[in-house]
Amino acid sequence: MKVKVTKECMGDRRCNDLCPEVFEYDEDELKSIVKFDEVPSEYYALVRQAAEECGAFAIEIEDDN
Ligand code: SF4
Repeated sequence: MKVKVTKECMGDRRCNDLCPEVFEYDEDELKSIVKFDEVPSEYYALVRQAAEECGAFAIEIEDDN
């Protein structure tokens, strides 16, 4: 699975709280970033939940394999 956070991120860090293993807040970019190029499979469910719950629709799952 490949995931990205778009520039629409409003920085409320909700995804960071839900899945800190994958998402972290970048103080320079002022938005959340994804720690992995390929997200480990054990985090798929949480990443999908984070994408659904992101109020800015800023989490894009690019490749769901
Ligand atoms: S939940 Fe969405 S808006 Fe909030 S920090 Fe994460 S990507 Fe950004």
